[in-house]
Order: sequence, then C-alpha cells, then structure tokens
Amino acid sequence: MKYIREEMAKDLRAVRGTHDILDGEIRRFDRVIDATRRVCALYGFEPLATPILEFTDVFKRTLGDASDIVNKEMYTFEDRGGDSVTLRPEFTAGVARAFITNGLAQRVPVKVYSHGPLFRYERPQKGRYRQFHQINAEILGAAEPAADVEAVTLGAHLLDALGLTGKTKLEINSLGNAESRERYRAALVAYFGKYKNDLSEDSRVRLEKNPLRILDSKDEGDRKIIVGAPSLEDHYTEDAARFFAAVRDGLEASGVAFAVNARIVRGLDYYCHTAFEFTTDLLGAQNAVLGGGRYDGLIEQMGGPKTPAVGFAAGIERLALLLEDAAAPTRPVALVPIGPAAERKAVSLARALREDGFPVDLGFGGNVGKRMKRAAKCGAFAAVIFGDRELESGSYSLKRLDTGAESPVAADALTEELRT
Ligand code: AMP
Repeated sequence: MKYIREEMAKDLRAVRGTHDILDGEIRRFDRVIDATRRVCALYGFEPLATPILEFTDVFKRTLGDASDIVNKEMYTFEDRGGDSVTLRPEFTAGVARAFITNGLAQRVPVKVYSHGPLFRYERPQKGRYRQFHQINAEILGAAEPAADVEAVTLGAHLLDALGLTGKTKLEINSLGNAESRERYRAALVAYFGKYKNDLSEDSRVRLEKNPLRILDSKDEGDRKIIVGAPSLEDHYTEDAARFFAAVRDGLEASGVAFAVNARIVRGLDYYCHTAFEFTTDLLGAQNAVLGGGRYDGLIEQMGGPKTPAVGFAAGIERLALLLEDAAAPTRPVALVPIGPAAERKAVSLARALREDGFPVDLGFGGNVGKRMKRAAKCGAFAAVIFGDRELESGSYSLKRLDTGAESPVAADALTEELRT
C-alpha cells in the first residue's frame, strides 16, 4: 500500500471476500486442477465449462426458496436487457441446465467435471470467501448405487493424488428416498415443535421451511436439542436402506475408508440417498474440503427428463491450503548483453534457448551491474554475458550464479553446457 496515494487506496482494494491469487497460490491451484484432469480422465469424466452467469431462475428453481444460498448469498442483478441474472453460487444447477439444453439425455450416463469461480455473499474468514473456486464432478443418468460408489471413490482418488489422504477423513450418510424423507420430516417437525421456543431464530424459520436444516445448526442451544432428535435411519423405507447398504458395501470393496455420520445432511432440497463429506482438522472452522451426494429429482424439477444423478464439489482454495509447498518453478537463464549489437543478438538467442526449453530472462535494459542484480533477483541459475568481443569470437561468458564460477563457452556449445 505504501506506493499508493492515500485517497486512491480505498478504490483500489479488492472487493471484500475476493482475493488476488499470486504465484505460490496459483501454482497450488494448478496442481489441484492438473490432478483433477488426470484423475477424472482415469474415470472417463469429460471436461465441461458452463457460463459463470445464468438466469436467476436456474438457481432459484433448483436450490429452493428456503435455501440460505438463494435467500442470503446470491450475487443477483438485472442486466441491461432487464433479465435477472446470477453469478453462479454452485455448479450443479448450471451443469443440470447444460445437460437439458444440450440434449445430453441421449448419452446417459454422462460423466462430466468442471472447475472455476463461484460467488456467495457469505461472511469472509480463513478458507471462506465470496469469490472462491471449486472443482466439480457429476454423473448424470445413473440410478445405481455403483454410481455413488464411483463418485466417492473419484473424490478419494483425487485427494490421494494430491497427497491429502492422511489429512482428511470421509463421512457418509443416506438421506433416504423421498418417502423416507417425508416420514423423517414429519418426525422432526413433531420433535422440534416441542422445543420451538428454545430454538434459535434461524432454526424456528427452518422448522417451517426445511426442518432437516436444523440438524446443521451451529447454535449451541440448538445443538443441545438436536442431540435427542429422532434419527433418519429409523425412518428409511426398505428400498432406501438397501441402497445405502449397497453404497457402503461398494466403498468397502473399493478400499475407501469411511465412517457413517448421521449429521451429514447436505442443506439443499434436491439431495436424496447418499450424502458424503471429506473434512480436515487442519483448517479451523472451515473444515469441509469435498462434499457431494445424490440428487435424483433435480433435472426433472428443472423441466428435463427424469435423470437420477450424483456428484461432488471441492473447494480449490481449501485444497491449496492443505498442499505441501509446490516444487519451485524451473530457474531461468539470464542474458546479459553489453552494447547495441549484443542487445540485438540477445533477442534471437533468447528465442533459440526458449525453443530448446530453457526459461530465459532478458532483463530489458541497464548496464552489466544492473542486469546481474536482476539475474540474481529472478532466481537465474546462470548468466550468459556477452559484448562485441564475444560476438566476434563466437563465444559467450557463462557465469554460474550459485558458485560465481565464470568461463568462456563456444556459442554452439551453450545449450549443452547449460544442460550440465
Ligand atoms: P458446497 O458447494 O457448499 O457443498 O461446498 C463444496 C466445497 O466448496 C466445500 O467443501 C468447500 O471446500 C468449498 N467451499 C464452499 N463454500 C466456500 C467458500 N465460501 N469459500 C471457499 N470455499 C468454499
């Protein structure tokens, strides 16, 4: 900030909850995305990029009017044509919209993955931002528990590829089918109704709109009441219980370690059957790293064909925070030309070296002293120094910056010498 005039400082701040992603973090991001591409390809998932901007209805219709996202967190505005549009707060609704608009129902099961920015007007804190990034994977058009097993296994494989298996744990639950949830909902309304006056204000609203969400409450008073709440498990239909058993069995067969936790509910209305979450103890309050579940009714609810589906999303910032330091980028070669002829030569030499795969720093200007300082600053491992004399004799002076050793090298032996 010290370079910025006081009165400009406010205007130049990034919007609260957004941040610039610089070198070290970007490299971690790239590792997450590279691993995603690699692992998703192993499972036959195709890349899909949907727009960041969708008509507001895409989210309103799918996330439900009662969800926190729709009520409090969306970046919604009217565009110049008078349409209400929203910066996507999650991937699934946009992917489902794309599935319908592009007629992908012909090709089920469709397996796709995406990554990119999302926007939620949440209270920012460590690991929680208003613009953040996710990787997202969905299997559309598969009703079998084997698809749930594949989605969870893909998530586990991805974390493993990033070296995060030891830093995360997997918990799963089943929300049952619509009938189980209806039974459970009634049981919850009856139970929490008895404590209505003791519940937090948010939970009293949830009691009317979506009592399952009360189980998610972080309010201490609510938590005491929640301990005695009826369990969903006792309200599964036979089908729902069979489905959950098949998912657990499949995960055991695929060697993915998990624990069942009845508190994993996933807030959104469109989830059913499997809900799962990988969490970590290393990020404080924002402990969720990767979460997902099954959403059989969503695409039909949006006006598409009946399409059972399952998927997950993971926060790239949180994954990046958990990664070990990335390997340093390859160190460049610095060119230090002396005089106009050498300056000119430096341009073609830089190009030739880059074509040979060496990162090159050209320094752009200044005397030898200034250029050598620049070479050290950009982390170059060697400087190629040359003026008229070297050009005439067809050689360069090569200085190893770690040892300070300097020796002449013939122009045509330079690349080979740099490789040693
Ligand atoms: P969700 O879409 O809410 O199920 O979140 C999926 C994953 O996205 C979470 O497990 C987090 O890793 C990440 N995530 C969700 N909200 C945020 C946020 N506001 N800032 C950063 N990461 C987030």
